[in-house]
Amino acid sequence: IEETHDIVIIGAGGAGLTAAIEAKNAGADVIVLEKMPLAGGNTLISGAEYAAANNWLQKKEGIEDSVEQHVQDTLKGGDYKAKEELVRTMAENALAGAEWLRDEVGVVWEEELMFFGGHSVKRSLIPSGASGKEIITKQLAKAKELNIPILLNTKAVSLITDNGGKVIGVEAEGKDANYTFTTNKAVIIASGGFGSNIEMRVKYNPEIDKTILSTNSVGSTGDGIVMAEEIGASLLGMEYIQTYPICDPLTGTLLYYDDARLYGHTIIVNKEGKRFVEELGRRDVMSMAIKAQTGHVCYELLDQKGFEASKLQENHGPELEYLYKNNLLVKADTIKEAADFFGIDAEELQSTVDRYNGYVADGKDPEFNKRSLPSTVEVGPFYICKAAPAVHHTMGGIEINSKAQVLNTEGNVIEGLYAAGEVTGGIQGTNRLGSNALADITVFGRIAGQNAAK
Ligand code: ADP
Repeated sequence: IEETHDIVIIGAGGAGLTAAIEAKNAGADVIVLEKMPLAGGNTLISGAEYAAANNWLQKKEGIEDSVEQHVQDTLKGGDYKAKEELVRTMAENALAGAEWLRDEVGVVWEEELMFFGGHSVKRSLIPSGASGKEIITKQLAKAKELNIPILLNTKAVSLITDNGGKVIGVEAEGKDANYTFTTNKAVIIASGGFGSNIEMRVKYNPEIDKTILSTNSVGSTGDGIVMAEEIGASLLGMEYIQTYPICDPLTGTLLYYDDARLYGHTIIVNKEGKRFVEELGRRDVMSMAIKAQTGHVCYELLDQKGFEASKLQENHGPELEYLYKNNLLVKADTIKEAADFFGIDAEELQSTVDRYNGYVADGKDPEFNKRSLPSTVEVGPFYICKAAPAVHHTMGGIEINSKAQVLNTEGNVIEGLYAAGEVTGGIQGTNRLGSNALADITVFGRIAGQNAAK
């Protein structure tokens, strides 16, 4: 099947849908290709919190912030490996993007802000329901209203270029037919990251091998990165892969049981009953430490008072049910009983706990320097949850400029090609701060859509 459109967008996640709405509003004829049977990608399954300096809730709460502070936090969080020009573009346009989602797309934001690690102030908006479902549902409704076709089960496989290297179309495979799309204006790649592609992960970072699961959608296989590289695009920071330490060892899904750790209440041990890492350390450090233990897993121990203080039952009841049912969480009257459930060395665990309780009393942990020691582990019943690290976000990808144009390895613009979202590299450096992804994909999705339509 051959078709011609002004713009073809690869991927119907947050970045692709944003670009589609903007391009259509600018008067272009747009089509979106989505390889999965369902739109939404990683955006759909994320918490979708959105970092925006100077937002309306900050004003209401009297929180002082600035675009410059957001830029500095992001650069520092990424170990100064990001392209500053792109970080600036993200931070400067983040608030306008959040307002656009609210006013143009109909996204409802909650009335409170969230405070993520690495941000120097509370600046992150929370979508209704604290889920990307709010974003994607509203974007799909808007796309429908604007008559933007979204071809599901249709996978882009390669870019078509003319003799001068300009991108003029996309080859795609549908369920029942193959397509050749020709573009009058541009192709926008918005196909997300490569967290679910083990081979590609290992190619760029051998540590992130198959023993590490993925929190990502199965569609995150880096297709757009490969397609762009094939026609000479420059890639940035491909080795920077973010893992989250506490995930479901069966599926890779991020576990909210981990809230208890963030409050400071848990002890993390290995099968031998020993602590091996600071429980409040960096995500990457903890993940690699867990990977190095027996079975590539860890065990998070919590007592009843920590359990209650972390509001696990109130906030995450269904997850706890799931964990009990799948033998990933045990509740027992004694530490020994809980340890035996998982075959953890119970005697060693008891002495680990006794030592830890001593550290809490002293207010100092000489073994791992745990930065916060709010409570002992001594009041039964006791809980142990089995967990493993999983890939959460891939920072690397296609190099773009602040107009979302794709650059080649010589640093020149590849005509007719734009990219936005997790598929791009260089914006989050070595490590993305929580809630920067939504700002990133919205800001660059809008820019890509607007510019491609010109
Ligand atoms: P972002 O946050 O950057 O928007 P997402 O993961 O939310 O990224 O969305 C990317 C979307 O692109 C997903 O829905 C994914 O299934 C889709 N996708 C990935 N590769 C292809 C491809 N080759 N063709 C079409 N769609 C693709």
